[in-house]
Amino acid sequence: MTFSDETRNELARVIPSARCCRIAELNAMYELDGFLLGTNNQYLDFNNSSPVVARKILLLLKGLYPDLPTQVLVVKSRSRRTQMCTVRVLGRDGAGQVYQDFKDQSVLDESGVPRKKCCRRAYLRGAFLSRGSITNPERTYHLEISTEQTLLAEKILAIMASLNLEAGITQRKGSLVTYMKDGQQIVNLLNLMGAHSSLLHFENVRVMKDMRNQINRLVNCETANVDKTVKAAMEQLEDIRLIDEIIGLEELSPKLQEVAKVRLANPYASLQELGELMLPKMSKSGVNYRIRQIREKARELDGLDPES
Ligand SMILES: [Zn+2]
Repeated sequence: MTFSDETRNELARVIPSARCCRIAELNAMYELDGFLLGTNNQYLDFNNSSPVVARKILLLLKGLYPDLPTQVLVVKSRSRRTQMCTVRVLGRDGAGQVYQDFKDQSVLDESGVPRKKCCRRAYLRGAFLSRGSITNPERTYHLEISTEQTLLAEKILAIMASLNLEAGITQRKGSLVTYMKDGQQIVNLLNLMGAHSSLLHFENVRVMKDMRNQINRLVNCETANVDKTVKAAMEQLEDIRLIDEIIGLEELSPKLQEVAKVRLANPYASLQELGELMLPKMSKSGVNYRIRQIREKARELDGLDPES
């Protein structure tokens, strides 16, 4: 099961308690994937590819209108790989009543957006259940709700904005897609819709990903430092061997000789560690000063400019 399916199944189990929110959620599913049909508008259909969502639609309808005649139709595609479930409200009176409740001007503002925050959250949940999808966070952060209707895409965007959610709209193959790419924004929306286990899963992946990135950055940084130390030590060893071959280490001053011998015995030690091996102990900068003198001597013997 995809992460999208898991989220949809979780949201299909969330049943809002208030009547206003139940209507708002059904309205979203009707607006995104529903129709008023028949010569006398005697059918009101809700379509959804998920039987779990169809069951929720039926539950919400039965809770709101206990005597409403309904019917559930399932149509499988020829390949039988996909299916479409339709929850149909039967009869002109029933369909008319549901439709009127959807358009109730006392709960909506002039652009059809529910006035109450609880209902706007329910509307987004319904919209996601109808036409939403979310990518597995292991891959990338992406949540979207698609529709063919410009007004609906704008309405979804406006509702999101009213709940402080940042989203965008893009066009794809004749559809308008309201989408989110920011991990935190997706988490906020999952929270507002009530998808708490999906949110936890999403957050866990996000934390793991952040940690992995941090560790990689640290490891890269550490490796670079080690590389630098080893490279410098190799150059110092070359200098010392060169001096030893051409004039012998005995020709160096006793202080330089000591540094050279300790370095030869400890090829991988850092300058600070070399300082601690000296008798008496020496600071890192003291060791560095002597190492530079050794380098100058070697360059001089090699006939090279000591600065290069
Ligand atoms: Zn409400």
